[in-house]
Amino acid sequence: MYKLQVKSRSRSELIEITGLVRDVLTKHPIKDGLCMVFVPHTTAGITINENADPDVKSDILLGLERMASQKEFRHVEGNSDAHLKASLMGSSQLVLVENGALVLGTWQGIYLAEFDGPRSRTIIIKLLANLREDN
Ligand code: ZN
Repeated sequence: MYKLQVKSRSRSELIEITGLVRDVLTKHPIKDGLCMVFVPHTTAGITINENADPDVKSDILLGLERMASQKEFRHVEGNSDAHLKASLMGSSQLVLVENGALVLGTWQGIYLAEFDGPRSRTIIIKLLANLREDN
């Protein structure tokens, strides 16, 4: 299990971490298996989405903001929107590793989704190797 620290700069932000995940795989190579990327936080998530047009990131954040801006929330910390957005993103992603490389589509990137920043976030990466190959 490997831990990374990533600093966010604003309250809501999608930070691409594909390169950081690849660095871990390069330092601790496996040929075939799974790479789990997890955040141990309740107001941040991990998602996979487009890494080409930066407008996609801002549109996702805008869409989530519209979905989660409710005055009726009761949580005393006042950050229920962040909890809701984090749950919508999920706290992990599982990416296949084939021939030592992450299996991602051409336009896909792995993102840390920050919803209650700015702050330092821990990202946990677990590489699972030696899975049985049936095909
Ligand atoms: Zn809270």
